[in-house]
Amino acid sequence: MKDNYRIQKLKTIAKRYARANRLAHSLSLDVVAKELGFAHWNTLIGASKADWFPCDDDLTKIESFIGKAFHAKRENETDVILNSVDDMNQVEEGKIGEYGFRISNFLDDAVVYGEGWTVRIPEAPLAAPFVEIEERYAETSPVKEPEFLKQVIDIAQVYSQQIRARMSTDWSRRSTKPDANGKVRHPLGKDVSDKWYCWDCDGKITGLQIAQNLWHCPSCGANPLHIHPEPFGSDDSETHPVEIPEQGGRLEPIIQLVDARLKLELNEENISMLIRCALLEEATNTNERLGAMLAQISVIDNEAVYITFDEDLWPEDKEPIQALAVAKLLGLEVEQEVSQFTAPFAWPELGVLTSSTHEYTKMLMDAYSEHGVISR
Ligand SMILES: [Zn+2]
Repeated sequence: MKDNYRIQKLKTIAKRYARANRLAHSLSLDVVAKELGFAHWNTLIGASKADWFPCDDDLTKIESFIGKAFHAKRENETDVILNSVDDMNQVEEGKIGEYGFRISNFLDDAVVYGEGWTVRIPEAPLAAPFVEIEERYAETSPVKEPEFLKQVIDIAQVYSQQIRARMSTDWSRRSTKPDANGKVRHPLGKDVSDKWYCWDCDGKITGLQIAQNLWHCPSCGANPLHIHPEPFGSDDSETHPVEIPEQGGRLEPIIQLVDARLKLELNEENISMLIRCALLEEATNTNERLGAMLAQISVIDNEAVYITFDEDLWPEDKEPIQALAVAKLLGLEVEQEVSQFTAPFAWPELGVLTSSTHEYTKMLMDAYSEHGVISR
C-alpha cells in the first residue's frame, strides 16, 4: 500500500514537471524514470511489479531534481522549520517561543493564525501584510511586539514565495524570465512585450519589473488581468513609470483591531426569517405553508413585528403560537393583519384538503386542465 503510494507520488511529481516545462506527461514520466536509473517509465513500472520500489531517498532525489523552489525544507532565521508540503491547502502548525500558530494558503495569500490574531501576506509580492488583532487581546497579543511580528512575517513570506513558485509553474517560462531584450509573455494570454501597462493606475511597467512582481502591478498591486501590453485608451502620455522598491521590500504592515466575536444581527431581515420559520413550523396543510411563505413581515422601530397574512391562505382565527413565542423571545410585540393579496393559484380551498405538496400539485393540474389551461 505504502509502496503504491510512492509510485503515485512519482507520477504526481512527473505531472508537475510536465506542466512546469510544457512537456507531455509520458515524456516527463521517462525523465523521472531516467533520474532513478531506468531506461523508461515502463521499465520502472516493470521493476516495481517484481521487487523494486522507490525508497525515501529516491523520492527526495526526484523532488529536489524537479525544483527546490517548492520542495526544499523551508528554513528561516527564526529557526522555525516548516515541512515541505505537496498540498498547499494543508494547514501547518508551528511555534514561536511559547506561542503556537497555524499557517495556510487562503486564495493564494499566506495566512498565519494565532490566538486572537492573524497575519496575511497578500499574493502580490510587494503588497503590505495585513495584521488583525481581536479587540479582547488588544493589550496582550504577542503580535504587538515588533520583533515577534517580524518573525511571523518572515515565516509567512517564505510560505508566500512557495505559493507563488507553485503558481508560476503553471505559466509559460517566458512569463517569469524575460528574454535578452527584456520581453516577457503575459501568463494568461499570448501577448509578448517589454513594456506593460496597468489599467488600474496607468503605471508603465518594464518586462523585468512585471516578471519580478509576478504580474501584479508594482505600483497598485492590481492582478494580472489588469496588466496589458498597451496603455488604457492607447494614450501613452497619461502613464507614469512605476518603481519597484528594493528587493524583498514589502510595504509596512497594516495593523487593525477587530471585533471577531460572532454577532447575532437582529435586523429586519433576520427577524423576519425567524418569524417566517416559526409560521412554517405550525402550518398544518399546504395552504398554511403557502400562507407562511407569502406572509408580509415587517419590523417597526425595533418594537413590533407586523405580520400580514393572505386571508385565502392562513385561517383568520389561527393564532401563530410559535411565531408569537419567537417574537416574545426577541422582545417584540406582534400585530397581525389579514389582507387579500393575490394567492398564487386559483381554488384556494384545494390547499386545505392536503398537506402533501405532491397531492396538491396533482389537484391543481387536474383542476386547471378541466377548467382552465396550463401554460409553461
Ligand atoms: Zn497599477
